[in-house]
Amino acid sequence: MTNERRVECPDCLGKGGISKDYMGGHLTMDCRRCGKTGRIPVVMFEWIAKGKSLTGMRQNMDRSLREMAKQMGIEPLALHDAEHGYVDPTSVWDLPGWEFP
Ligand SMILES: [Zn+2]
Repeated sequence: MTNERRVECPDCLGKGGISKDYMGGHLTMDCRRCGKTGRIPVVMFEWIAKGKSLTGMRQNMDRSLREMAKQMGIEPLALHDAEHGYVDPTSVWDLPGWEFP
């Protein structure tokens, strides 16, 4: 029993999987955001919002995801996950002189 409040996953709408049209058929992919559970912790919405501002900051600095990750000393995938709110963006944003909004 956890007291962490969970809400419907916005990516798969609580279904746990995302279906896509693929080569004339349907392909159902496991939802990465909620790990197929269809529910996410409420705090993840905050991560998604912060991730969006992280993407905005990167674009303002005119950096590609790869260039930015290199400057930050992290893997591009880690930055990608942060920008999409899969992880807490403040956990990767550690550039001296750059404040998280
Ligand atoms: Zn989901």
